[in-house]
Amino acid sequence: MSDLPFAQADFARALLGWYQQQGRDLPWRNTRDPYRIWVSEIMLQQTTVATVLGRYDVFVQQFPTLTDLAAASVEQVIDAWAGLGYYSRARNLHAAACLIQTQFDGIFPADPDLLQQLPGIGRSTAGAIVAIAFDLPAPILDANVRRVLCRLFAVLLPPRSAAAEKNLWAWAERLTPQQQVHDHTQAMMDLGAMICLPTKPQCESCPVNSLCLAYNQGLQQDIPLKTAKRSIPTRYQAVMLVQQQGRLQVRRRPVAGFLGGLWEFPTVDLEQVTDADVIVRRLLSQMGLVGDPVLVGTSYHMYSHFKLESLVYLVDLTDNSLIAETQNQWKTRAELELLALHGAHKKVFEQARTGGI
Ligand code: SF4
Repeated sequence: MSDLPFAQADFARALLGWYQQQGRDLPWRNTRDPYRIWVSEIMLQQTTVATVLGRYDVFVQQFPTLTDLAAASVEQVIDAWAGLGYYSRARNLHAAACLIQTQFDGIFPADPDLLQQLPGIGRSTAGAIVAIAFDLPAPILDANVRRVLCRLFAVLLPPRSAAAEKNLWAWAERLTPQQQVHDHTQAMMDLGAMICLPTKPQCESCPVNSLCLAYNQGLQQDIPLKTAKRSIPTRYQAVMLVQQQGRLQVRRRPVAGFLGGLWEFPTVDLEQVTDADVIVRRLLSQMGLVGDPVLVGTSYHMYSHFKLESLVYLVDLTDNSLIAETQNQWKTRAELELLALHGAHKKVFEQARTGGI
């Protein structure tokens, strides 16, 4: 294991002293309930604290216990996740709750190895749950802590490379104390979120600056090393905003598969954008609807492995009789605001609402 270039006790004293004065007071910090800590950790994985602050209380009010979450349908959990994005987290949360109920008699495991066997829980999340809920020594390496450690130890390797990963976990383990693990873990998170910021680290205010190799070598702006961006393909689709009597038509995607269980506007994938008009008219007729689709704009959305270009059609139904709901449902604009639309169509809706397309 990689040795520390300073005494662990010096680091712990400086970090915890600062945390006791400056640590954040967040709603999920007022509990030791592993279920609620797990929910907060999953929410925070790819979402800002500001957004989670607006959603956490509502979610745990709807599902106050692990038993309540496991008893819900996956569709209910997805709908409750609206506004948080990255909905695979909601599906995994539900699946993991069901597994804890059946495999662990509803008792949250206090063992990082067991937790990592559950969907959506990686090594860092498992460590955070065990450290924060049970106060047991387990390291974490989330995005904030990864950046702190890269700078603290002046890592001149791509931060996600195998070599860096091995050393970072080893240092995270060495820095983790045997006691006050709960405070240490939250202090590391706060240091990354409040002081050791991605572009402008506040080194002058940093409690561990005397121990930090990057700071002492003037490298804090250069670390972590940037990784080259990959080029990714573009996919095309036509999206129909079918409206009747002030409402828009939406459908739920199948639970299994990409963006599973989320809502979307009627959509068709396109091989070529030049075919769009014909294909949209065909889809409309297959849906048994009569109207004249008008191309109103284009919306773009980035996924990790492709870019999505959506041609957006507005369709005012010319048949004034109220079209019955089949698999598709009619929603008012107010209902759409709260619906778990997937990210690309949330953007389409926002742009249409504000006149952006
Ligand atoms: S001294 Fe600066 S670079 Fe080092 S850990 Fe503190 S904030 Fe980060």
